Amino acid sequence: SVKLKDINKKFSNTVVLNNMNLNVEDKEFFILLGASGSGKSTTLNIIAGLERATSGDILFDDKIVNSMSPVQRGIAMVFQDYALYPHLTVRNNIAFPLKMRKYTKDVIDEKVEEVAKTLGLEEYLNRYPRELSGGQAQRVSLGRALVRDPGVFLLDEPLSNLDAKIRNQIRVELKLIQQNLGKTFIYVTHDQQEAMSLGDHIAILRNGKLEQVGAPMEVYKNPRNEYVAAFLGEPV
Ligand code: ATP
Ligand code: MG
Repeated sequence: SVKLKDINKKFSNTVVLNNMNLNVEDKEFFILLGASGSGKSTTLNIIAGLERATSGDILFDDKIVNSMSPVQRGIAMVFQDYALYPHLTVRNNIAFPLKMRKYTKDVIDEKVEEVAKTLGLEEYLNRYPRELSGGQAQRVSLGRALVRDPGVFLLDEPLSNLDAKIRNQIRVELKLIQQNLGKTFIYVTHDQQEAMSLGDHIAILRNGKLEQVGAPMEVYKNPRNEYVAAFLGEPV
């Protein structure tokens, strides 16, 4: 499990996260949903270990990991802008985390092929990022996370740069991948539909505070306040 206990975050004097408490169970698809500026990326970065909280604890499997690096935490992150290495081919982008860990060439090739197959990227392995569409680039970015086989995947608006058709297609694939892998996904989005269709649980964030956490239909049918109701599109 991943837990946030009384997490606060300030940038200079601005409070960005205000006493956040969260509990993400193993193997669930957990959604952090909120408007722009609500603190979603900051929360994810703190879970990842890319940023430190001002106060509070992050626990992985009930152990405090506050001072552990992203690698030590066993997470892999997928970013909105793909963050691919422009000078490396698709194959080498996906292989990169494995090369860092000094796997043998045979093992690396095997794992890369496997991931490419899962994501339908076999034909693109020798291309460079600039030769890919947005959807293909996002698959490569996902591939680079998958190949590491982390316990926890952190995804920050991975589909927001894609057009609607590709977005829906990859959304369905993502859910299948998560279910097949049986891994924990913590997924940031500002898109209500995405949240409703992907999430086992959703947490609604507003100005650095959690408004409500629950199963999507539960929250949709029983919004705690008008903000949640309006945000999910249900008139009160
Ligand atoms: P978006 O949907 O636009 O990505 P978000 O929910 O991910 O938004 P965050 O990036 O977490 O929001 O930012 C939350 C707040 O913290 C914003 O008001 C932002 O301006 C502020 N913020 C984020 N990073 C920094 C920083 N390094 N220094 C100062 N303020 C920051
Ligand atoms: Mg963000």
